[in-house]
Amino acid sequence: MAERIYLDWNATAPLREEARVATAEALGLCGNPSSVHAEGRAARARIEAAREKVAALLGAQPRNVVFTSGGTEANATALCPSWGAGEADDSRDGLVLSAIEHPSVLAAGRFSRSLIELVPVTPDGVLDLSALEQVLSKLAGQGRRRLMVSVMLANNETGVVQPVSKAAELVHGRGFLLHVDAVQAAGRIPCNINELQADVLSVSGHKIGAPKGVGALVKREEKLHLSDPLIRGGGQERGLRAGTENVAAIAGFGAAAAAAQKALAAESARMAGLRDRLEAGLKSRMPQAVIFGAGASRLPNTTLFAVPGIRAETAVIALDLEGIAVSSGAACSSGKVQPSHVLAAMRVEPSLAQGAIRISLGPSTSESEVDRFLDAWIRLSNALVRETDGIAA
Ligand code: PLP
Repeated sequence: MAERIYLDWNATAPLREEARVATAEALGLCGNPSSVHAEGRAARARIEAAREKVAALLGAQPRNVVFTSGGTEANATALCPSWGAGEADDSRDGLVLSAIEHPSVLAAGRFSRSLIELVPVTPDGVLDLSALEQVLSKLAGQGRRRLMVSVMLANNETGVVQPVSKAAELVHGRGFLLHVDAVQAAGRIPCNINELQADVLSVSGHKIGAPKGVGALVKREEKLHLSDPLIRGGGQERGLRAGTENVAAIAGFGAAAAAAQKALAAESARMAGLRDRLEAGLKSRMPQAVIFGAGASRLPNTTLFAVPGIRAETAVIALDLEGIAVSSGAACSSGKVQPSHVLAAMRVEPSLAQGAIRISLGPSTSESEVDRFLDAWIRLSNALVRETDGIAA
């Protein structure tokens, strides 16, 4: 039987070899990193080495990296009204989000629902900067002085890269604070916290080949202070995230970050070539296919497309049976397929959005895997269109 083909790297990436080695080595350490004895110091050394590597990937100061259990926790921690420089009245008085944020950002952390405002995107899935400016100006006009704004660096469904530095100019121009969810972008495109001018940034280990269940919240400036951390208790992570650290996963995260940083230019050029091959092959054989966000700058590894008449859930299952793992653009929770909020925000017809298939590639994806996917897709989609016609009739 042919080997399976994994084309769902935005859901999670296979473990990088460097991360496997570092994780396994750290699993052999018994010390608690907060202990002062030699065993504790050995564990602490692994964490601090990893902190330097994660910081280097993001152009941050190691002391401003706070390890968390993943991207979701980093976002939940970041979205909190209590960021400031330590003054008494520094509570954030509103949260502005792009309409295409990941559910862990749309959940808005510890902001009350009544304080949230959404900003639309263009039909290509790019944050509408003039709409952002209007929302900020409207809220400022209502007397809000300490807003927090959250904009993702790259969308997980479309791969569309967002104009974060331009958003930062607007946000900082009014003295507001910017959080950036860089979970899908880090390790795939340059992601420097200073160049982006993000005040706080979230990343996740498992998207770049670290074990699942580790991530980080990163600050640009040390003086930016979070007075109400999400998880309180012991003083770990400079008091910003209590709990004994997941030493092995953090060590793996550090190794994955270093490997991703070293290979970034080569890997992203190679993935872009493969993604372009896939899209060209698709369009030449199925001209009716619609590629979402194609007119915008996108991550090199991601394509989201639909073919009119094909439902994504059936296509994903049919491909799985062929040995190919892909994802649908729609989120499935409790067995019910929800239309994608990202495609809805891009004003895609719901019937077309229901057919959205996301293919996401990684450093080890090969040309022959892309070609095998294309062959299988063309073969299956003819049958799938017929099936759908039958159901509709
Ligand atoms: N943000 C984005 C853009 C994501 O794509 C994901 C995961 O899919 C997350 C946050 C959550 O990260 P984690 O799986 O580490 O909780």
